[in-house]
Amino acid sequence: MSILDLTISEIHQALVNKTTTPVELVKEALARAKANNDNAFEILIEEQAIKEAEALGEPEVDNPFWGIPFVLKDNFSTKGIETTASSNILNGYIPLFDATVYAKLKKKKAILIGKTTLDELAMGGTGTTGHKGTTFNPWDPKHERLVGGSSCGSAACVSAGIVPFAMGSDTGDSVRKPASYAGLVGFKPSWGRISRYGLFPFAPSLDHVAYFTRDVKDAALLLDVLAGRDLHDATSSLEPVERYEEDLSAPLKGKKIAVIDDIVQTISDQKIQLAFKRSCEELAKQGAIIEHIRFGEDLLQSIYATYIVISCSEATSNDANLDGIKFGPFYPGKTYQEVMFNARTKGFSELIKRRFVIGSFSLMSENQDILFRRAQKNRRKIVNRLNEILAKVDAIYVPAAPSVAPKIVSSSYKLSDEYLIADNHLALGNFGGLPSITLPLMLEDGLPVGVNLTGAAFEEKKLLSLAAGLERITGLANLSVLNKKEGNL
Ligand code: GLN
Repeated sequence: MSILDLTISEIHQALVNKTTTPVELVKEALARAKANNDNAFEILIEEQAIKEAEALGEPEVDNPFWGIPFVLKDNFSTKGIETTASSNILNGYIPLFDATVYAKLKKKKAILIGKTTLDELAMGGTGTTGHKGTTFNPWDPKHERLVGGSSCGSAACVSAGIVPFAMGSDTGDSVRKPASYAGLVGFKPSWGRISRYGLFPFAPSLDHVAYFTRDVKDAALLLDVLAGRDLHDATSSLEPVERYEEDLSAPLKGKKIAVIDDIVQTISDQKIQLAFKRSCEELAKQGAIIEHIRFGEDLLQSIYATYIVISCSEATSNDANLDGIKFGPFYPGKTYQEVMFNARTKGFSELIKRRFVIGSFSLMSENQDILFRRAQKNRRKIVNRLNEILAKVDAIYVPAAPSVAPKIVSSSYKLSDEYLIADNHLALGNFGGLPSITLPLMLEDGLPVGVNLTGAAFEEKKLLSLAAGLERITGLANLSVLNKKEGNL
């Protein structure tokens, strides 16, 4: 067991006690990154990382991020460091400014050791569509399973023991679903809670900065640093920032938790059903009040279609600047249209092209009413239902995914309720801009499965407190590939 396998707060303690140094940690993280064969990195940042570690003076007792190595998903802008969002259309693009999230972590003296792979432009959920090919799940050394996406490389890095935390983005579930497949905590705070300045947009009304940690406490500590108004992002919130770790040991007694039965019942895996049921019983034993409710099946079945129409429409519009002229490689042609045609033909994978066709089709003036506006109206109905539920309870509690990490070649039936609902319900949190956290529930045949808690907007502190209570029940804090555990359920 190495110090690098611990949580941020534990590593911090070791740094303060001088049992290790930032240089040692950074060197070990880089060595592990090089030895890893999950295809998690776009780029390693060796020289700069070691220099930064060497330049640190005495440990800062009150700063848990001092000297802690981390990674950024490659859709965060990093000044002077190539940033491609795993898309060929951005090969060679070197940003001129830092994303606010990176600037804040740098200021706290955390050390960036690499940029990680993603599904191209953060669209997709498999971790197979980036220009570097499939990112594998570190839990499966045979490399037969997905780690999930789109934040695939960041998930792989934390669960493979390379870094204790990793930044990602979540538009539909891109941190919270891979967290389930990789045995991690994956947290998406409210929309606007963390500045998106320098995060490449996919669908801005749904995009959130999100991240992976090894336990709930680290997720809270990270929010302390990242939350807050940013003048570079007009959509960042003015809500006051709290000390998010303050209530983590509060008892669960009296907390109201809604279980959405019409999500849970679409899951066919009986082991997940059983462990989930046991976790509800344990929550109740601790004094939480579990309310079984129904969301409404029609609304649940409409999540995926609503998500696709809105996200693809916004993506088509936002990515109009990827025309082969402003960024990335230049593909010559006689006219602007020809240059753009060539760049987009060569620069985008099939998935991106398909999504841009859906987006453009939905935005055509003759289709707007029946597609784009209809999806927006339906989103409102869904959000109203969510808010109605969250006005009465402290959080919504459901399994994060219907299965362990799927095989890379799998053939799930895309119109089944299990796919439409159990595989896509995490987008509810994006529709409503709600804080939502995934954490490990159990291991099934040696592979992790997670659960998800979602709370009312800007109630991160309450949500993290509940999640910490649940983590005590599961016994699966700091579950990484190197640090396998049995769990309590
Ligand atoms: N799986 C979703 C999609 O395919 C989520 C993507 C995301 O959250 N970035 O778009």
